Amino acid sequence: MPSDDKNKKVLGIKIDVDTYHGMKNGVPRLLNILGNYDIKSTFFLSIGPDASGRAILQLIKNPRFLKKMVRTNAVGLYGLRTALYGTLLPSPMIALSFPEIVQEILSQGHEVQFHAWDHRRWQDEVNRRSTQWIRDWFEKGIRGFAELTGQPPSAFGAPAWAIDDRVMEILEDYRFDYLSCTRARKPFIHEKIGVVEIPSDLPCFEEVGVPEGISSVTSILKDGDMHVLPVHAEVEGGIWSSHFIDLLEQVTKAGYRFTTLSEIRKLLPVDKLTVRKYRMELLPGRSVPCAV
Ligand SMILES: [Zn+2]
Repeated sequence: MPSDDKNKKVLGIKIDVDTYHGMKNGVPRLLNILGNYDIKSTFFLSIGPDASGRAILQLIKNPRFLKKMVRTNAVGLYGLRTALYGTLLPSPMIALSFPEIVQEILSQGHEVQFHAWDHRRWQDEVNRRSTQWIRDWFEKGIRGFAELTGQPPSAFGAPAWAIDDRVMEILEDYRFDYLSCTRARKPFIHEKIGVVEIPSDLPCFEEVGVPEGISSVTSILKDGDMHVLPVHAEVEGGIWSSHFIDLLEQVTKAGYRFTTLSEIRKLLPVDKLTVRKYRMELLPGRSVPCAV
């Protein structure tokens, strides 16, 4: 069916920028790589403070997290200073420190959306913070986003794919075009708020490692469908950038075309999508549950 052809072999790359280090070093490197392949993708930016150092506190509390940090060589990925932000060193602002990099992303034709105000605190504390704290977090983040890009974001991707019912209620007020807050297998519509979810359905390098990450992604892509690959500026734009290039080569050879998530949003048959509630699940390679 020609009308469905446009939904075949489409890959959206969702690039999360979680840290100051990733914004400063990972994003320019990714822009270079994507430019070489003429690929447009969607950057989800952390706008405010980098409190990554607080993750160290998590080591003591969660043995699975420690395993993950060791397996992924966290200090190699994020740099030593990152490990101290928000503890021994003050938290620098992430995207707000680099307005020129934000402009560069946009001028190269990529999409920019809202990922976080304070990524680390959301990831660690959103469940026990008050509704007012969550509201303030969105307000500060969206104000900062508008300062950087001249307009409010039209999508939100929750840090660490962590959401709850209070978050969904606040999201309803913002009337985003789409959300990318889960690791579900297929796009769906969030019940009650009626917003399209474009999930990251593929595994990320950070979870499965390399080269396993490449083979597990390419084997799923054999189905020739529409997919979203979650990428981290700190990882694919850092020490694993050569593996990322390998993956792009293979995906291109497999006949996929790359596009932004807002393009995917337009391609989706919205009236045919399932309407349902998200649920939380512990996925392989992750230390805490995420929405699916
Ligand atoms: Zn993130």
